[in-house]
Amino acid sequence: MGSAPTLQAAIPSVDRVLAQCAPLIALHGRERVLAAVRSELAALRSRLGEGSGDALAEAGIERIVARLGERLESEGAASLKPVFNLTGTLLHTNLGRALLPEEAVLALSVAAAHAVNLEFDLDAGRRGDRDQHLERLLEELTGAGRSTVVNNNAAAVLLALNTLAQKREVIVSRGELIEIGGEFRMPEIMKRAGCKLVEVGTTNRTHLRDYAEAIGPRTALIMKVHPSNYALVGFCESVEERALVPLARERGLPVLSDLGAGALVDLRRWDLPYEPTVQSMIACGVDLVTFSGDKLLGGPQAGLIAGKAELIARIKRNPLKRALRIDKLRIAALEAMLRLYRDPERLPQRLPVLRYMIRALSDIEAQAKRLADTVQSALAEWATVEALACESEAGSGSMPSDRLPSFGLAIKPRRRSPALQSVAAAFRSLPVPVIGRIHAGALVLDLRTLEDEQRFLDQLPMLGIGQKATSGRKAP
Ligand SMILES: *Cc1c(COP(=O)(O)O)cnc(C)c1O
Repeated sequence: MGSAPTLQAAIPSVDRVLAQCAPLIALHGRERVLAAVRSELAALRSRLGEGSGDALAEAGIERIVARLGERLESEGAASLKPVFNLTGTLLHTNLGRALLPEEAVLALSVAAAHAVNLEFDLDAGRRGDRDQHLERLLEELTGAGRSTVVNNNAAAVLLALNTLAQKREVIVSRGELIEIGGEFRMPEIMKRAGCKLVEVGTTNRTHLRDYAEAIGPRTALIMKVHPSNYALVGFCESVEERALVPLARERGLPVLSDLGAGALVDLRRWDLPYEPTVQSMIACGVDLVTFSGDKLLGGPQAGLIAGKAELIARIKRNPLKRALRIDKLRIAALEAMLRLYRDPERLPQRLPVLRYMIRALSDIEAQAKRLADTVQSALAEWATVEALACESEAGSGSMPSDRLPSFGLAIKPRRRSPALQSVAAAFRSLPVPVIGRIHAGALVLDLRTLEDEQRFLDQLPMLGIGQKATSGRKAP
């Protein structure tokens, strides 16, 4: 081993490294390459200072340039990118929920690239209203008198509560004070909307008389919340909207129903579990219904509010509406998606969410059996791969207690091979990261949503288990 000064001398100068970087400069620009060279050399210097032996081996110019190339490429890669969602959760909030139908993708990209009549009345030649593009469709599909759209359903609920019940009381059943992932807790939203929450009933049972007894001079609203991500089973009772409406009418109060998922077609038509539809709520006299654009509806993130014209008009005048509004891209996508609902017959071919939900089990099973061997050979020494039955779920608080029988690949590390977490990490570091779920000692890839099979297979040879796994990118 030489003395420290000679070791330091082994590190090339910035200029010598830069001289070898012409291709990188052409690709990434001189400024970024120079900054990367400096920080790379500084890191080497400090590792040599600490006496790290292998730092010397890494000080060769060729090695340095190769590392710079990798570093610049990974820094330059897009952060938001496509992944394979094989988690079995069809509407996965962390993976962006619903995939848009082609028609919506097209409408969105046209709107992105052009000036549009977003808030412009083409007939009158003056300022218009951005809700105009969706209103007619929503009214036709839901039977509501009027509608409006905001950023997401959390915003829809906040806006409706703030408009109708600020500084007043809102009656909600104790069994419906839900928390949905990511800090959306109904009592918290109430507080932020400036309303006083009046809880009625008990966790498992609420009766009509509980609502009746809670109504007082400060009551502004009766609210129903669809228990999206859990189900009450056993000794339980709740009051349905159709039973609440007559009581509310009698006392001159509006009823707000936060549906969450909010289907626009009866899913039983395709032998799927029942999910209350927006039109059924409107038909039984509910005054306002709030629902998400990117859950069962199958569109972009949005919060839709449909209901009585006079209440919607008040909501639209609330200054918060301006802060919560959506942009032209999502209005374009929503319009194109809602249009598809005019022809429910063909929805399964056009809406990815529905297509996944009704995909035949035999089809998924055949795919799992077809892929098992290929995936097994890609993982030869590390893991065993087996086709097996599993269950998918709609996710994002849609159809909480219903599972869809599915088929997937169960990948189990062999003894002495990298741990399960490394196998999962290796799948996540593929060019199109593959996201599965860990279940019973295996990485399970639910194939219900695997459509681009070729792309999935093509990247399997790049699975560097044990090597790249540790440097695998952070899970999304
Ligand atoms: C999902 C959900 C929300 C929140 O909707 P986002 O569109 O995610 O903001 C609110 N209420 C209920 C009942 C839900 O299921």
